Amino acid sequence: MSAGRQGPEESGHPLNRCPATALMPPPVAGAAPTAGGTGGRARPLRCELAEHHRAEHAELLWEDDRLGGALWVRWTDTRMYRVMLFWCTASDELGDACGLFDNHPSAHSWRIVDTAEDGPPELPAQRGDSAPGEDSPPGGEASTG
Ligand SMILES: [Zn+2]
Ligand SMILES: [Zn+2]
Repeated sequence: MSAGRQGPEESGHPLNRCPATALMPPPVAGAAPTAGGTGGRARPLRCELAEHHRAEHAELLWEDDRLGGALWVRWTDTRMYRVMLFWCTASDELGDACGLFDNHPSAHSWRIVDTAEDGPPELPAQRGDSAPGEDSPPGGEASTG
């Protein structure tokens, strides 16, 4: 049991998300057969930690409710590995839990802002011609579970 709140720095200024990216190679043939795995495909990764963090980069692969954690992939310039990690137990003043793993480096997830995730902002520059606001999804990215 821990008493009191900890955190020497109380400045809540947001931090940029780490720009590191990588490609996770497909699973090696010959390993245990994975469900619904027809051939391998490299998976693009993007670090979910804050910029200038120490230790390895990290991205969440999938959550595992049974274990109360999630599978993460950690990588550096020279190596990459997957590891099951428990959730960070911290939560902000509003009660939002941190979306990162326990003992993660850098700031908690609610302080990390991702400036590149969303597309370019759509400015209402000129209006007058109202088109039917039905744009088709990108498509072609059906995930076969
Ligand atoms: Zn990173
Ligand atoms: Zn955290």
